[in-house]
Amino acid sequence: MTLSENIAKLRPSATITVSTLARELAAAGRDIVNLSAGQPDFRTPEWISQAAIDGIHAGRTRYTPAAGLPELREAAARYMTRGTGYPADGARVVVSAGAKQSLFNACFCLFGPGDEVLIGSPYWTSYPEMVTLARAEPVPVAGSADDDFLLTADDLEAAASSRTRGLIISSPSNPTGAVYSRSRLGAIAEWARERGVTLISDEIYQEIYFGGEGAKAPGALDLDPDAVGNIVVTNGMSKTYAMTGWRVGFSYTSAELAAKMSALQSHVSLNAATPSQVASIAGLVQEERAARDKAAMLEAFARRRLLVMRLFDELLPGCAYIRPEGAFYLYFRVDGCFDDEADCAGDICTRLLEEAGVAIVPGEAFGDPRYARMSTASSDEEIEAGVRRMAEVLG
Ligand code: PMP
Ligand code: GLU
Repeated sequence: MTLSENIAKLRPSATITVSTLARELAAAGRDIVNLSAGQPDFRTPEWISQAAIDGIHAGRTRYTPAAGLPELREAAARYMTRGTGYPADGARVVVSAGAKQSLFNACFCLFGPGDEVLIGSPYWTSYPEMVTLARAEPVPVAGSADDDFLLTADDLEAAASSRTRGLIISSPSNPTGAVYSRSRLGAIAEWARERGVTLISDEIYQEIYFGGEGAKAPGALDLDPDAVGNIVVTNGMSKTYAMTGWRVGFSYTSAELAAKMSALQSHVSLNAATPSQVASIAGLVQEERAARDKAAMLEAFARRRLLVMRLFDELLPGCAYIRPEGAFYLYFRVDGCFDDEADCAGDICTRLLEEAGVAIVPGEAFGDPRYARMSTASSDEEIEAGVRRMAEVLG
C-alpha cells in the first residue's frame, strides 16, 4: 500500500507508547511501576460524573454544534478569561476532543507548506508532529539550561527566519514543570506581535501550580490585550478536573480563527462527546464545589513534588533535575549514567523497564536525549518505589 506524504514523518506519541507498553507488561504479570504518562490518578469528582449520567438519561446524547454546546463555550470563555482583560466571549472558544485536538486544529488552520513554527524545547511530544502534519516545519528552540530552558525574546529572534509563522510554548511546562513569569511571557508575546508570529500558549497545567494557594500560573490572557498580537490559548478538563478519558479541551482565540477551527472540526470529528460536554459544564459552572476538589488534588500534587525532590536528593544525587513550579513531572538528567551499552535516554529507560520494572519517558520524546521524565501523578507509594528502584539501577 502506498501511503501519503502527509504522514511520511509521523511517529506514534512516545508518551502514549511507553504507558501502553507498561500497562501491557503489568497485565502480563510483570511487576511494573508506571510513571510514564501524565494523567491524574484521581477519580473524576463524583458530582461531575453524575452530571453526565443525568444528561444521558435526559437524552443529551445527540450531536452538538461543531464548536461545542453554547453553554460550554460560554463557561469555558469565562473560565479562561477570569481576571483578565479579554472578553468572556463564547464565540472565541472551540470545544474539542481534548486539548490535543484543540492544538492540532490551531496548527492545521494556521500553518502550511513553507512555514516554520518555533517550539519551546524541551517540548510536549505532540507539538512537532502536529506542525509536521500541517506540512510546516517545526523549529525547536531551547532557552538556557541554567534558566530551566525558558525562552527569552533574544532566543526567539536568533531562531526566527522570514518564514516563521508561529510559536508554541507550554507553561507550566510539560516536561520540565518550569513556569513563565508574567513579565517574561509579556516579552515573548511582544516579540511575537512585532514579528507577526501567532503565539500558541498551551496552559493545560495552569491550575497545577505551586506558586501559592489558589493561584494559577500566569497565562497569555493575563497580559494587556493591546500588547498582544494573534494568540491561541488552549486549556481543558483533563488535568485540573481529573478527566483525561472524557476528552474535553478548548481553545480561546479570535472569533475569526475560532470559526475556521470549528469548520475544520465539523468535517473531522464534529464535536467532543456530548455527555462529556455536559459533565464539563457542571465542572466549570459549579465553581465552589470544583474549587474544593481541585484544592485536594493540588495538595497531593504539591506533597508528591516535595517527596520526589527529596528522594532524588537522597538517592540519585547524580541526576540533576529541574525544580518543577507546576504540572506533575520531574525532568532529570540521565547522561551521567551513560556507558558502553547506553548512550541515550532511550537506552537508559529501556534498562530501567527491563531491570527495575519502572516505566518513564526518555527525553528524546521531548527533544533532549540527555534527560528523562517521570510523572508524579501517581500515589506517594508508587513514586517512592519507582525512585528507589531507579536508584538501584542508576545509582
Ligand atoms: N498539552 C500538554 C502539555 C499535555 O501534557 C497534554 C496531555 N495530554 C495535552 C496538551 C493534551 O491533553 P488532553 O488532550 O487530554 O486535553
Ligand atoms: N500529556 C500526557 C503526557 O505527556 C498524557 C499523554 C499524552 O497525551 O501525550 O504524558
